[in-house]
Amino acid sequence: MTASNDNHGTTPLDIETMLVTAGRDTESQKGFVNPPVVRGSTVLYPSAEALHAHRGEFQYGRHGTPTTKALQEALMALEGPSCAGVGLVPSGLSAISTALLAVLKAGDHLLVCDNAYRPTRNFCNGLLARYGVETTYFDPMIGAGIEALFKPNTRAVMVEAPGSQSFEMPDIPAIAGVAHAHGALVIDDNTWATPLYHRSLEQGVDISLQAATKYIGGHSDIMFGTISGNARAWPLLSEGIKLLGVCAGPDDVFLALRGLRTLAVRLAHHQNSGLEMARWLEARPEVLKVLHPGLPSHPGHAIWKRDFTGASGLFSIVLKPVSEKAVDAFLDTVKLFGMGYSWGGFESLVIPFDCSTYRSATPWTPGGPALRLHIGLESVEDLQADLARGFAALSAA
Ligand SMILES: *Cc1c(COP(=O)(O)O)cnc(C)c1O
Repeated sequence: MTASNDNHGTTPLDIETMLVTAGRDTESQKGFVNPPVVRGSTVLYPSAEALHAHRGEFQYGRHGTPTTKALQEALMALEGPSCAGVGLVPSGLSAISTALLAVLKAGDHLLVCDNAYRPTRNFCNGLLARYGVETTYFDPMIGAGIEALFKPNTRAVMVEAPGSQSFEMPDIPAIAGVAHAHGALVIDDNTWATPLYHRSLEQGVDISLQAATKYIGGHSDIMFGTISGNARAWPLLSEGIKLLGVCAGPDDVFLALRGLRTLAVRLAHHQNSGLEMARWLEARPEVLKVLHPGLPSHPGHAIWKRDFTGASGLFSIVLKPVSEKAVDAFLDTVKLFGMGYSWGGFESLVIPFDCSTYRSATPWTPGGPALRLHIGLESVEDLQADLARGFAALSAA
């Protein structure tokens, strides 16, 4: 499903206001604030002439419905004036695979940051390698030094800012400057900040994608992905999405739009609670370091301050060396922090991770066991008490 932007850059409204107003067409909805969940494959044409000319706003369910149009318009307002179009796909991973397939061809070379989401690597090392695309992984902190890794056939650079486990912050404007000098496209997995806190298309990124499963949905009840492109990338993306036949289900489109309406308040709360928890954890004796770009102690803090307008609720901590049994005692004791994959919903989560099992360009030597935390919408006091009980169990183990 695709839509192109024909009135971007003309609205003077603040982004919080646009999250509430963009994509609304109450007149065509008989006054209702929200669009209907349009379920449909066939769209009937009024005449043979209209059929032959493919005339009409909607032509086939896979290509778009009034529900997808509302979400796409709202997402385009969120992405900013450089956005030329947004594609809606059934998961975050399909946003990644669709974008890469849309811009690459056999014989191309791809650069991917070493802290990328692991299934991104699996896709590059698996399907893309089989289709004749070579991937080189790079140090996320490489900056303009990425120049040395370019080959004559380097077609795209993929970054994740920050990496969703280890939280290094790539210098996107520096990387994009080099990439564009070599005629390559820059793809950013913008799931962590969302375009609300990082308008990556305004910073030299050509394709900004998100696992909308996370903060856009916001309630741990959908799988969803979005792919946004600037004028340079959108024709390729739009064609790729059409050729691959990916489209999102109507209920998930509706829930993504519903989540988007409250994104600003939810993300502000995740940010504030996340920073409060991060500072509290930094002072805990059991914690070696906290990996949160919003903390002055983080090596990517200056880049975060320059390029981002906020932080979400996801960050990692490294514990002082303890046994695996002690970490498990911590995990089994905390109750408000659920153990599970994904994040971006209203609830707090914790998961252990070890990047050394898959990184290839840079070593991962954190100095102790690492845990990733998602700070949900619970009270910070309750969350701190929960973690304190976990630390007591860890120390007793
Ligand atoms: C979760 C996630 C994805 C994949 O999203 P799904 O909707 O689970 O397929 C991609 N990138 C990042 C950074 C993620 O955290």
